[in-house]
Amino acid sequence: MAQKDETRGELVVFSLVKSAVCTECGLELEPHDFMKLEDQKPLCMDCADLGALLYLPSGNTALTRRARLHSKLSPIVLRFSRTRKRYERQGVLVEAAALEQAEIDCAADEGERAEARKKAAVSREKLDVKFVTGFAEAVAKRYPGCPNDQAQLIAEHACQKHSGRVGRSAAAKQFESNAVDLAVRAHIRHVHTRYDDLLQKGWDRNEARSKVISEVDKVAAKWQSGK
Ligand SMILES: [Zn+2]
Repeated sequence: MAQKDETRGELVVFSLVKSAVCTECGLELEPHDFMKLEDQKPLCMDCADLGALLYLPSGNTALTRRARLHSKLSPIVLRFSRTRKRYERQGVLVEAAALEQAEIDCAADEGERAEARKKAAVSREKLDVKFVTGFAEAVAKRYPGCPNDQAQLIAEHACQKHSGRVGRSAAAKQFESNAVDLAVRAHIRHVHTRYDDLLQKGWDRNEARSKVISEVDKVAAKWQSGK
């Protein structure tokens, strides 16, 4: 396997024109759903490790620029125009916290900033509190060394994923140790390693994962031991 260079250009996802099926989980993707191509095969956003990102349509240049600046991952969204017969840029996907920060940055005066902060707080409140608390407790039990604020973030992300998948997996299953391990490891990969930077540079998931796996193991072991 050839050594890949780290500058392969920008990460791109597609807004679907036709329906497709995720090659990894079998999820049916409908027109306008997002899809990443890996080895010419479609992947849903969750399988591509881009499931936590929010869509920011083109239009507000300052907001887009600031959100991308704050976001480690910011794939461009392209969509094929049948009339113009070419791919056109629709917007970008960014991390929720990055978009929140960018909205606050863009609010011109202090009054507007307070309003933007309030809006962000309200959208966080929409999370299922019972689920988040339960999941955070499950994380703390298995990973006593995991800092509280990070257990909270892990739980909030699991909750977003869970609510997007109602009917696909039973809620009770979400608290099993395997689900907790997966969520914790995904968080470590995302926050404590260069994984997202590598994805942004166009590495494929498997290569990027094996590059950071020892770092993930190290942090997970530390959290598990409680030291
Ligand atoms: Zn999938």
